[in-house]
Parts: sequence; C-alpha cells; structure tokens
Amino acid sequence: MKNLLDFTKAELENLISPKFRARQIYEWIYKKNAKNFDEMTNLPKAYRSELGEKFTIDLPQISSVQTSSDKSKKYLFALKDGHTIESVLLPMKEKSYDEDGNLLHFERYTICVSSQVGCKIGCTFCLTAKGGFIRNLTPGEIVGQVLAIKQDNKIPYERRVNIVYMGMGEPLNNLENLKKAIEIFKDNDGLAIAPRRQTVSTSGLSSQIKKLGEMNLGVLLAISLHAVSDEIREKLMPINRAYNIASIMDAVRNFPIDMRKRVMFEYLMIDGINDSKTDAKLLVKLLNGIKAKVNLIYFNPHEGSPYKRPSKEKMEGFRDYLQSCQVTCTIRQSKGLDISAACGQLKERYKNGNS
Ligand code: SF4
Repeated sequence: MKNLLDFTKAELENLISPKFRARQIYEWIYKKNAKNFDEMTNLPKAYRSELGEKFTIDLPQISSVQTSSDKSKKYLFALKDGHTIESVLLPMKEKSYDEDGNLLHFERYTICVSSQVGCKIGCTFCLTAKGGFIRNLTPGEIVGQVLAIKQDNKIPYERRVNIVYMGMGEPLNNLENLKKAIEIFKDNDGLAIAPRRQTVSTSGLSSQIKKLGEMNLGVLLAISLHAVSDEIREKLMPINRAYNIASIMDAVRNFPIDMRKRVMFEYLMIDGINDSKTDAKLLVKLLNGIKAKVNLIYFNPHEGSPYKRPSKEKMEGFRDYLQSCQVTCTIRQSKGLDISAACGQLKERYKNGNS
C-alpha cells in the first residue's frame, strides 16, 4: 500500500485515472482533513473502494506533546516502523483577542519539521547527533508532521504557516524527498505554503546547497554557521573539515534568492567559545556583500554537554556590534526553552523511554 502523502500532485495524476481526481483527493486530504476515503463524498463509491485497495493516508502518530510556557509545543511522533521524530509548533507574536481580552488565536505559526531520523553530521553541541543516523524521512513523513500538527491545533486552512526544515536531521542529505515535500506543501490544491515561506536550514553542505540552488525552488536558506574560523567550527561541527567556511560562503553567494529576502545565518552563542568581540568582527567581514540576517541563539545547556550559555550582556554586546556595522541581527527569542525545543536539541526518543 502506498501512502498518498508521499506524492506530488503531478505524480498522483500519473498513478490514478482519470487525472482530475488527483486534484479532488488533494483537496480532501490537505484542505478538508479527510482521514479516509469514505469521507471523500464527491468521488463515486466504487472509486473510493478502489483507492482504498491501493493507497493509505498515513499521518505520523502523535506520541506525546509538551507545551512550553510561551505556548510553543514539541511533538513526539511515532512513524510506521516504530522510530520517532520530533517537530515543534511555534505560535508567532500576532494574536487576536475577543472583546474581553481573551486570546482567540495566533495569527501566524512556524512549524519546525524533521527531515531524517537521527543525523549523520555529528555536531558536538547537538542532542540529535548523539543517537547517530537511522534513515531519511519520506516526503509523506515530512508533510505529515505539518498536517498532523495543524489538525491537532485546529489551525484553520487559511491561517499563515511557515515551515522551517530545522528539526532532526540535515535536510540537504535527503534532498530528493525534501524537494518533493516542498512541492507538496506549495500546491494550491493542498496546503498552499509558498516556497518563500519555507526555509531550508543546513549545516553548510556546500555541494548540496549548490544542487538546491540549481533546482530553483524559491525556498529561503538558513546556514548554521556558529563560528567564524575553521578551527573553532571544526570543533563544533566536524563536517567543516569537508565543507569549510570559504566553500559555504561561496555557495551562499551563488544561491538564487528573492531580492527582497535575506539568507539567514544561525549563530549558536556558546560561552567562551565563539562569543568574543574578535568573533563579531570576523563575522561582519565574512558577511560582507551578502544580504544576510544573523540570528543569535543562546546555547541551551543539556546534561552531559561541555558547553555553557553566554551571559545576556555578551549576547547583546555581540548583537549591538553587528548592528553598528549595518548587519541585520536579532537575538532569537528562546521559544520552547523549557521543553528543549531549540535547534540541535531534538533527538529520537524511543518507545522504551530512552531520552
Ligand atoms: S545540529 Fe543539525 S546538522 Fe548538526 S548534528 Fe544536529 S541535527 Fe544534525
């Protein structure tokens, strides 16, 4: 049996006949949240049972949900083969209130999705890396995270949702399935999440950034930079030996991006490692000529980690220096801090309770 969520509409049109049914099926799944074929009442009954013999509509199963004090939610999903992945729902600032001042809803959401079970990259600050790499997610398993979270939170179809591929795994190590997921998300008969609202976050695999650029999908790019010298970056991210900073910057300079948008540089601030004034100066130099936005992230200490969280003063000093040099820079709000939902803090939790 094939999972319908694995297919772009064009692929589905080749799998079923007549073709126009693909559009109807897409609408049922992504717009009307149909969980089975019986709900698809504008399809003939016999056709529905035919579909049921060949296809399933498989969403990842919610194993647990942790809600943070800032209302972000971390989802643990069980996949069909028993492996687990995590995704995070981040409600964004804007809200609507009723006349009595009660919160009605958030205007905008960001959903951070996983692209692999585990990860091969092995960043030394990352919890996911500790479990090693298990497998790539299918397109349907990537798309299913968003669909399941939207359904669980009753997020209306028309509410704006942004996607960041920043959960477990390196998305560019699963490029073909990532490409399909981007296409499925953007389909106007489906979730209609435009590529400019989808951000692919990478540890900096320059050759893969180049390939993604050549696909011209219109997505945004985020680079987990975290250090400005190869020496420090290699310590934090051993992958830097294969793809050094110069090669990453080169790939970024050639990446096709909407003129109105910026390339995001994620910079995890770790006390005494990469948070000095010299680091800030080098970062400004490195970004020269790139339309960039730097996101400073507080390192979230976790058990067994040798790294520490920098002081607020250090963070703000670093940001202020960048801003004084006309580099757009923000300190990322530590959403989900109390549930360890920040980047590099997600990991597979097995059903037997390891964590
Ligand atoms: S931080 Fe990202 S790329 Fe690095 S090991 Fe963790 S999941 Fe992989």
